[in-house]
Amino acid sequence: MTAPGSLFAEHALLPEGWARDVLLEWDGSGRLLSVRPGSPAPAGAARAAGPLLPGMPNLHSHAFQRAFAGLTEYRGHDPEDSFWSWRALMYRFAGALTPEQLRAIATALYVEMLEAGYTSVCEFHYVHHDRDGRPYADDGVLSACLIEAAAQAGIGLTLLPVLYQTSGFGAKPPTEGQRRFIRRTDDMLRLLERLKPLCERHGARLGLAPHSLRAVPPEAVADALAGLDALDASAPIHIHIAEQTAEVEACLAWSGQRPVEWLLDHAKVDGRWCLVHATHMTADEHRRAAATGAVAGLCPSTEANLGDGLFDAGAWRSHGGRWGIGSDSHACVNAAEELMLLEYGQRLATQRRNVLARADEAHVATAMTLEAVAGGAQASGRPVAGLAVGQQADFVILDAQHTLLRELPTPQAMLSAHVFASHRRSALREVWVAGRRRVEQGAHPLAGETAAAFIAARRELLSTTS
Ligand code: ZN
Repeated sequence: MTAPGSLFAEHALLPEGWARDVLLEWDGSGRLLSVRPGSPAPAGAARAAGPLLPGMPNLHSHAFQRAFAGLTEYRGHDPEDSFWSWRALMYRFAGALTPEQLRAIATALYVEMLEAGYTSVCEFHYVHHDRDGRPYADDGVLSACLIEAAAQAGIGLTLLPVLYQTSGFGAKPPTEGQRRFIRRTDDMLRLLERLKPLCERHGARLGLAPHSLRAVPPEAVADALAGLDALDASAPIHIHIAEQTAEVEACLAWSGQRPVEWLLDHAKVDGRWCLVHATHMTADEHRRAAATGAVAGLCPSTEANLGDGLFDAGAWRSHGGRWGIGSDSHACVNAAEELMLLEYGQRLATQRRNVLARADEAHVATAMTLEAVAGGAQASGRPVAGLAVGQQADFVILDAQHTLLRELPTPQAMLSAHVFASHRRSALREVWVAGRRRVEQGAHPLAGETAAAFIAARRELLSTTS
């Protein structure tokens, strides 16, 4: 619980667009009680120092991967360097990680996320067991580290324990590098039961992530989802779906169908689902998947970093498809930068500009922010869908005095300057989560000490993986 509070903003981005003279009021749990445009500024009320935006949900994160950001940017022996060579290093780190290291890495990462405009995160968490592959005495220990990290940093959390059983389509046995991820379906359901009260205590949402169609056989997907429904029939479901063309080809060889096509024919996909990296889809898959109401989980910086391919945002949005953004491997941790990269990818592919603008919102940064917040909130399964009554008071305040924003004529132009013209962090002044200010003057109070703990954890990891 926090204290009830209020804030006045000359310009605020509400779900229906920019509004003037907005007074926000929230209760002791951080939920918005009223959002009133056209209000006179109450005497003595706190005032936002610039345009106020809804906080951005980060819909896809593997926290531990932040520890090897920067370490995979060289070509090794494989002239066809790809996702699969990156994965080899990821497995080395995943194989060495301790609970203390994960807690330190995740806490520093979540502090960074807050400083970069994210107010909540969906953690797609697949390292479950001890380093030898045997379950910990407390099976939920690594999940608990993530819950504690989010609570310490003050970021909202959706925890998605990952079901992982096979190394490829057709129930290929897991490899040695996957020993810490592997878990039977009944073990997963026990873990969810163990984690549910812990999540509730910390205000986190619990969901489930079948890792991918290559890592979970069809009957296990069905059983796990039935078990999840028994626990919480509205819990979020996330899956890596079509990130790599090699994965699409392997799925075709196995089933005669592409991954998205297969999933739509074999699972009841609806608005609870987040299709992470729905990168490789045919026109028919775009149409069918968008119609389910599922959210496409886009991770533009990671997809670029790994050479995955380009999502066709035009096709997806032409069918009313919903989407949100995630920082995934954390090569980049910055909400505005993901939006910029998404738009720039589409510009490069289509030779047009302002591709993600809308008929009712010409300013692309404004349109993208609204759509990414709505899609991210849906994928999170939490009330973080922007500045509206009943939603959490999660928001970001831009610095109207920043060189790139000062004296610009409209809040649309200021947000555009933040996304396309500034350093994408330098104009972020404050970040609030559930009515509590977590970032002030661009800085989180724990930034220094959590960064030091991150460096120490990475030092240990590098000494055990090299
Ligand atoms: Zn991922």
